[in-house]
Amino acid sequence: MARKPQILIVEDEVAIRTGLVDVFVYHGYEVEFAERGEEGLRKALSGLFDMILLDVMLPGMNGFEICERIRQQDRHQPVIMLTARTSDEDIVQGLTLGADDYVSKPFSVAQLVLRVQAVLRRARIGDELDAEIRLCNGLVIDTQNLCAGADVVFTRREMDVLQYLSSQSERPVSREELLVKVWGYASQMEIETRTVDIHIAKLRRKIERDASNPQAIVTVRGAGYRLMVESDKSADGESA
Ligand code: CA
Repeated sequence: MARKPQILIVEDEVAIRTGLVDVFVYHGYEVEFAERGEEGLRKALSGLFDMILLDVMLPGMNGFEICERIRQQDRHQPVIMLTARTSDEDIVQGLTLGADDYVSKPFSVAQLVLRVQAVLRRARIGDELDAEIRLCNGLVIDTQNLCAGADVVFTRREMDVLQYLSSQSERPVSREELLVKVWGYASQMEIETRTVDIHIAKLRRKIERDASNPQAIVTVRGAGYRLMVESDKSADGESA
């Protein structure tokens, strides 16, 4: 309990890097940093860090490549990308490679600290949820191993979305609620609902038989997204 969370900051710009180091030390983290891509990758693959903050544009090897290499080794490693480029393509690329979140420069330090805390919190609570989710279309999702069968694998964020929708499967969940409950945004923060839509689209490509006609994650007009789970489980009356 008393262990300080370990954070790795991979950032080549001195002013940003030293600022981040100071902020996270102040907030009680044990901080390590790297200036170049290869050095960042080597440290990131050590498995020592609870969180990795990863700049995109780095000398040597860029942050997307590093993120991809981290994911090949460890699908559970929390990673937040720091991107100066704000086009949707870059955001989509970062998320596709498995980053848990991204923060666009220039960012508010307070917001970054909150995002880090939210990702760490989800990484911890992820262990206590249902071991599997059974969808209406027969797909069985293994929440511990982030997969469904051998062919379908999920990022931790995608699994968080599935688990939250599953916990609320009797009703649709709005994008704003997902941003607050899954992404950890404070509700008054600037809302980025497109992030939710990107994740839902990716999930549909993985779990729907026909992503253009979704049956497992349905859109309820004006209300949000609803996960359709297997309806008639044996009625033991033991529902949580
Ligand atoms: Ca940079």
